[in-house]
Amino acid sequence: MTRREYYSQYEQYEIKRKEAKVMCVPEKYYSANEVDGPKINALFFQYYAITDSYRELLVSYLPIIPLLKKQVKLEEADYLLYTNGYVRCYDLSDKVCDNLRQLASYRKEGAEIIVIGKSANAKHILNGEIDNITFVGDHYAEYLGKRFGFPEMKEQYVVYDDYLEQLNVWPVDGCNNKCAFCRRSFMHIRFESQQFTFIKKQLDWYQENEPEKMRHISLRAENLTEYGIDLYGKPMLHRIIHLINSYDAVEIITIDIGMCFGEITPEIKDALCKAKKITRIGLNPEVGNDRLLKFIGKKHTCQEAIDICTQLRNANPKIVIETTVMVGLPTETIEDMYLLANLLHKIWPDYIHLNYYIHSPRTPLNEYPQMSESLREYHLQILLKQLRVIKEEYTHVKFHPVICIRHYFIWGKKRNSRKWIKEKMKLDKKNAETNFFPANMPFKRIVLRSCKTEVKWRDYE
Ligand code: SF4
Repeated sequence: MTRREYYSQYEQYEIKRKEAKVMCVPEKYYSANEVDGPKINALFFQYYAITDSYRELLVSYLPIIPLLKKQVKLEEADYLLYTNGYVRCYDLSDKVCDNLRQLASYRKEGAEIIVIGKSANAKHILNGEIDNITFVGDHYAEYLGKRFGFPEMKEQYVVYDDYLEQLNVWPVDGCNNKCAFCRRSFMHIRFESQQFTFIKKQLDWYQENEPEKMRHISLRAENLTEYGIDLYGKPMLHRIIHLINSYDAVEIITIDIGMCFGEITPEIKDALCKAKKITRIGLNPEVGNDRLLKFIGKKHTCQEAIDICTQLRNANPKIVIETTVMVGLPTETIEDMYLLANLLHKIWPDYIHLNYYIHSPRTPLNEYPQMSESLREYHLQILLKQLRVIKEEYTHVKFHPVICIRHYFIWGKKRNSRKWIKEKMKLDKKNAETNFFPANMPFKRIVLRSCKTEVKWRDYE
């Protein structure tokens, strides 16, 4: 994949989200007496859905669009839908609780608030503070379909994305681990694998009816490696990989969300090495030494990460390896930055997704002193400098011309594309009548990249 393709893929994710957001905003909000069916308002839901993950959007959100076509004004609705990404970069739990309090104050007497998706975790914080509120953490498309007379509305786990031209397969949701830096350490998300036969049936349908859509399969999940343990008593991801690899129509398989090194069983590793259609894989070393790995609760060692990457490259020299690492963890030292740079050069990734550790008072790491922003920035600079220093000693930069360091965090100004501004204006206009439109999450993107053997640094775009 070229750098242009890589960046354009990221843009496409955004387009899909924005399209979904615009697609389901109704032409108008009706008065209650103009609507025969359930009197629903989903203004908050539609606004915040964009903050949620690609999975939520495609698996649960798009199927419920028929329900959102005819909505009533917020103050006349019997049911108010709400969702939020809840925790993606920052922990937004408190903001979600404030939104819900606000919504409770706007609703007409007797109206029910239905909180769906990850934000249903707010139940444990609100602890009965708001009455007439229902929390539905998962399977919300099915829940709403049953409740409001849309029986065909169901979660979709094999979904074609017409922008990315890829067939997404989500065989599992949730994660049984509680890594100390991860939102999973304080969130309740049901772990659930889909039956192997269910996935196969859907892929068979595509093979039979729309094989052109199977050309590129994106195998996705927050923790793919645990697939099957709830159904079969042991990890069975290798079966899914062998299955997808076996279809003639499949040319490319990508595993886009980072896998846990420590949970890659010999069977999974064997399947990854044998499935030559895998062109790209995400793997998460997270940090650069065994002390920090233990500290954050990861199961692997640095040597295991190196071994797995080496074996994958030996088996499939063209495979693109993407990695995710963190800077700014409590107890982190400058030496840790040197060790991380060393590890990255041994793993030999094609892409490095570099994230700041963003603290939440709800994670187990809260008991340690947190790093100041300036020290965190200093650690980042040391790491980047060290990556450049070491680069001279390794030849891989020549063979892997695009080493890309992406670094997202939420703060400061938002860089808006023209398309996004146009859509936002359209939405603002539509919502002007209600006189209420909550502020979007700002974000700032930093991209640092090196090209071919020349390192070109672009600071803070
Ligand atoms: S394995 Fe991944 S998703 Fe699960 S808790 Fe750890 S970091 Fe989070």
